[in-house]
Amino acid sequence: MRNNENLFCRICGYKSIDPPWGADSRTPLYDYCLCCGVEHGYQDASLAGVKKYREAWISAGAAWECENVKPAHWKLEEQLKHVPMAYR
Ligand SMILES: [Zn+2]
Repeated sequence: MRNNENLFCRICGYKSIDPPWGADSRTPLYDYCLCCGVEHGYQDASLAGVKKYREAWISAGAAWECENVKPAHWKLEEQLKHVPMAYR
């Protein structure tokens, strides 16, 4: 892959250590995003699902699933810039 796009959450753009959908972007880990809480391989399996989940997450206040890893000066708009192109 040209860049590290597959490291970023399709919903919120959070950067994981391991690619949430595997190195081939087709083998989801079925773990949960520490930021938006999506289960990779489930709600983020289609563009429609991604948009629906993101919209619901943001309208509910974009709360972190795991508050203790949230950066001190976190900005949602900045993180969303990392959402893979195909899922915007
Ligand atoms: Zn996420």
